[in-house]
Amino acid sequence: MPIQTYHRPHSIEEALTLLNQAGARGAIIAGGTDLNPNLGDDFEAVIDLQALGLTRIELADNRLNLGAMSRLQDIADYSGTPTLLKDTIRYEAPNTFRNMATIGGLLAGCHWESETLAALLVMETEVEIRSIAGASRLSLEAFLAAPAAALDKGIITDIRLSIDGQTAHERVARTPMDRAIVAVCGRKSASGDIKLAFTGIAETPILIETGALDAINPPADFRGSSDYRRRMAINLSRRVISSLA
Ligand SMILES: Cc1cc2nc3c(=O)[nH]c(=O)nc-3n(C[C@H](O)[C@H](O)[C@H](O)COP(=O)(O)OP(=O)(O)OC[C@H]3O[C@@H](n4cnc5c(N)ncnc54)[C@H](O)[C@@H]3O)c2cc1C
Repeated sequence: MPIQTYHRPHSIEEALTLLNQAGARGAIIAGGTDLNPNLGDDFEAVIDLQALGLTRIELADNRLNLGAMSRLQDIADYSGTPTLLKDTIRYEAPNTFRNMATIGGLLAGCHWESETLAALLVMETEVEIRSIAGASRLSLEAFLAAPAAALDKGIITDIRLSIDGQTAHERVARTPMDRAIVAVCGRKSASGDIKLAFTGIAETPILIETGALDAINPPADFRGSSDYRRRMAINLSRRVISSLA
């Protein structure tokens, strides 16, 4: 059955009540760039988050705080946004999409080739989720390991990331603005700890230690075999590490 009801709640409590009343036939809509083309006949009600005021973008204590309804282009345009995040957002989608798509929708969509998610992983991002049971906060790494269980009829409300240290980004793609076949984001934090996150080698963007790269078994497609992706991950990670030295 096509959509029967459109809701625009003005509080998170109201949104959660509507979402839980609608059950499996209800969907949250944020920017709509992913949901609208894929609605099909699965949903009867949509709950639009745009009146909840979750649009803050602000710096505090070396962290960037983002409301879940912040548009990707607004995050890229903000002066306090780290270069790595600005750069990876540019690769996410054309600017018409970036002006609509939200950071909450990007997380919930957990696209395996999202370089923005890889950037957020190395920036030690925490995700805040509100549900009928209350508020919870978990690392992006834990969220990506089991997004459906983490969401469980809840709403992503806020995202916080660390912005200290140095970053680097390497990618291989068929053309400069095409989706990366493999991409690596790296960050050396103020304490000297190096984190690397990859796209194109697992079902979601993933944090991996360089010593574990020899053993990975990436999914293959027409753009790159599993072996090619593994070798690219190793080569690109070396370049990222030498940029961070
Ligand atoms: C042509 C096309 C190509 C795309 N290619 C890519 C790609 O290569 N890489 C990539 O990462 N993404 C891709 N996407 C997906 C999409 O652009 C992003 O995931 C986008 O950021 C979604 O944001 P949105 O605000 O438009 O979400 P919506 O479309 O409104 O919602 C997406 C999903 O997230 C849920 N959701 C949204 N906000 C919240 C929230 N606050 N809390 C809980 N659940 C929420 C929705 O219920 C829905 O299931 C593509 C989309 C399109 C249409």
